[in-house]
Amino acid sequence: MPNELKIENQIIPYVIKPSLRARRLRISVGRDSGVVVILPKDINILAAKHFVEQKQGWILRSLKYFDKFQGRVFVKSSRGEYLKNKQQALNLARAKVTQWNTRYNFSPRKISIKNQKTRWGSCSKKGSLNFNYKIVHLSESLVDYLVVHELCHLKEFNHSKRFWELVGQAVPDYKKLRRELKNFGISVS
Ligand SMILES: [Zn+2]
Repeated sequence: MPNELKIENQIIPYVIKPSLRARRLRISVGRDSGVVVILPKDINILAAKHFVEQKQGWILRSLKYFDKFQGRVFVKSSRGEYLKNKQQALNLARAKVTQWNTRYNFSPRKISIKNQKTRWGSCSKKGSLNFNYKIVHLSESLVDYLVVHELCHLKEFNHSKRFWELVGQAVPDYKKLRRELKNFGISVS
């Protein structure tokens, strides 16, 4: 279903994707997928359109951050962007680690924001959690997945079956979110 959002004289196309499994409305902006709205079965399209209008600030910020090129969207990196978003990214990462760690009760030693081109996040052997400053441009569900992923490395320092079971306890749809995050061309370790 093609739809359009008019923001600041720009026309931004978006796709509404009905989902039987989704429980709430969600918007994602991806390199290959563009702007996609996930529509749970018990929510009508008008409500979805209203939701998109409400979130147009976030959509625009996310889109501005990418360069559109031949229909594909690429992540733009710069030192200036890093400095501008670092503190906001740190606040977000801290809040999300605190939120999800009430469930796991692990002991992260330090939370840092990095300016990395190829990684969303990492966990060091000493228990430091690192996140890319670009998390400020991700949808909340992707940040949740990323934070849970790195938190779970405090218990399982690998990508074993046990690791993914641990992630799945808090984020049951982690497989889908992992794929979505890969669209940005940045990896999670
Ligand atoms: Zn990992």
